[in-house]
Amino acid sequence: MKVGIVGAGMVGSSAGYALALMGIVSSVVLVDHNAELAIAQAEDIAHAVPFMSSCVVEAGDYDRLSGASVVILAAGVSQKPGETRLALLERNAAVFRDVVGNVLRVAPDAILLIASNPVDIMTQITVRLSGLPAARVIGSGTILDTARFRSLLGRHLGISPQSVHAYVLGEHGDSEVLAWSNARAGSLSLAGFAAQVGSAITADVRARIDDGVRNAAYKIIKGKGATYYGIGAGLARIVKAIAQDQQEVLTVSMVNREIEGVADVALSIPRVIGATGIMTDLFPDLDAEERAALHRSAALLKATVEAVSL
Ligand code: ADP
Repeated sequence: MKVGIVGAGMVGSSAGYALALMGIVSSVVLVDHNAELAIAQAEDIAHAVPFMSSCVVEAGDYDRLSGASVVILAAGVSQKPGETRLALLERNAAVFRDVVGNVLRVAPDAILLIASNPVDIMTQITVRLSGLPAARVIGSGTILDTARFRSLLGRHLGISPQSVHAYVLGEHGDSEVLAWSNARAGSLSLAGFAAQVGSAITADVRARIDDGVRNAAYKIIKGKGATYYGIGAGLARIVKAIAQDQQEVLTVSMVNREIEGVADVALSIPRVIGATGIMTDLFPDLDAEERAALHRSAALLKATVEAVSL
């Protein structure tokens, strides 16, 4: 399978690196309007391949995306000093107007995987720009927040993140919702598991985990300027679910007809992912407080997307 990546910056190249090392696709093509950057990233990643897999990693123009089954959109511009988030969003929407048209011209059947932030808004903008069915425009959404939630819970309980089932829903951002009420460890409720291993989830523990999930990106950005390895691996994980038709349940973003009373909005809930993109949406059981928080998250995203002119 061929995977295209438009935007060979930190996020796009990290996704390419993860894909190349995992050896789950046969070809990765990097495209960037900075052609020199795309070539350099592709060469650097290609030099890692002989140690790990046999994936062909190249750079090229849009025509090289012909035949790609999935195209990751990681292109974008960074915030100028003093620029408002909405102004930044308008500039990123302009980037996507250019990118989405070019991708669909050569790869009309590709699944689009959106990584550029704010990812929920960019996912909805991509549906508007492309006219594609919503199930073929997947935003990376809260895949990474969910991974962080499971990792912190697993560490507290002394088990692997893979043995924890817990989801972060809504916006990939400040209004995201940690779904504590339906989180499980092994086959047990969190409280039941925690009691058995003597690691109670006190209010303090809960606050610490909540903070760790919600503010992880801010802390990383403070230390190193950007986050990319985690999301790069998350994007590769979504591609794997598509490439191997895994029917994997992942929290990704997609435009939904209605979420908690808010119509036509993109955000994350658990969804089944397979060869054709998003196969099924799963509406989790939530308590009243979580439902209200998910409604607020949806309403906030909806207000933002309505403010963007296309
Ligand atoms: P991130 O950390 O989100 O990856 P970067 O700034 O490192 O951010 O990467 C964004 C990339 O998107 C840059 O390499 C930039 O050249 C690229 N880019 C911006 N606009 C376009 C465009 N219209 N077409 C293709 N690539 C673009």
